[in-house]
Amino acid sequence: EEGWRLHKDGSQFWANVVITALRDNDGSLLGFSKVTRNLTEKKLADDRLKQAYADLEHRVQVRTKELSLAKQTAEAAVRARDEFFSVASHELRTPLAALRLQAQIRLRSLDKGRLTDFSPDKLSALFLDDERQVRRLTVLVENMMDVAKLTSGNLQLDPENFDLAELVRDTVKRLEGLLEQSGNRVNLALQASVVGHWDRHRLEQVLSNLLSNAGKYAPGSLVDVTLSASGEQAVLEVRDFGRGIAPANQERIFVPFERIKDANTTSGLGLGLYITKQIVETHGGSISVHSELGQGSRFTIRLPIAPVFTAGEKK
Ligand code: ADP
Repeated sequence: EEGWRLHKDGSQFWANVVITALRDNDGSLLGFSKVTRNLTEKKLADDRLKQAYADLEHRVQVRTKELSLAKQTAEAAVRARDEFFSVASHELRTPLAALRLQAQIRLRSLDKGRLTDFSPDKLSALFLDDERQVRRLTVLVENMMDVAKLTSGNLQLDPENFDLAELVRDTVKRLEGLLEQSGNRVNLALQASVVGHWDRHRLEQVLSNLLSNAGKYAPGSLVDVTLSASGEQAVLEVRDFGRGIAPANQERIFVPFERIKDANTTSGLGLGLYITKQIVETHGGSISVHSELGQGSRFTIRLPIAPVFTAGEKK
């Protein structure tokens, strides 16, 4: 038998006890002998070994779980990449095909001497359409380049002091034509001047993404753009009254390549809001969405007026 026993002084030791019956030549029982050996050292060594095995087992389990998660993440990344290439090539091909077709039609008209096809009004409509397709291509290519920069941690900001209210007014003006085409009217409620230290080009990109999304996902809707500053931060909001976003999708839309698949899916790579979020966060700010299906969406951006750039500032 083995077990803990007590020394005379009260301290414990691990005992191995052997009790043997002692018999004479006839086999009659004479009594018993009892040998108790102190195996404390061995017992402690055995226990340490068992514990080490258990720790090892636990570490193997944890590592296996980590590896399996890493495998799932890698597989998801490969799937996202494949899907991205297929969506990207479709998205790039559509405006290219439209431009090519238009060029062929115009050449044919010229060949046949049909100059009436090129009245000033028609020409202006044709050029507007070309411009729209080229802009679509430019945005796609720029978004792809931004994502490459973001994944390699190379998004660099070029901050300067400027008035955000002025930038909002200019950006809305620049996108007026586009928003008119989708039947959106923009209502501005801007604090007179909100001066801060930010990357002008990147913040223009942020607002432009939100406004073009309003055009795509809330056509015909009024779009409220508000800007205010309270204390140390500026708050910019873009609100539409379009289809809205279900609660289950509200986090997903900020993930690269994620788009909500529904009946009215318009073109896009699912990169705009991801890039927007990264730009805002690189400025030390935050973006959130408040939305109800069928009611519209409100995107709120909070920016520190004087950001402390931890990384990503151009030298
Ligand atoms: P893209 O427009 O290329 O799909 P974004 O990252 O800009 O990429 O948007 C991700 C998704 O979020 C969109 O596919 C759309 O489903 C949803 N979304 C974005 N803005 C709005 C909006 N204002 N109203 C409803 N849905 C929106």
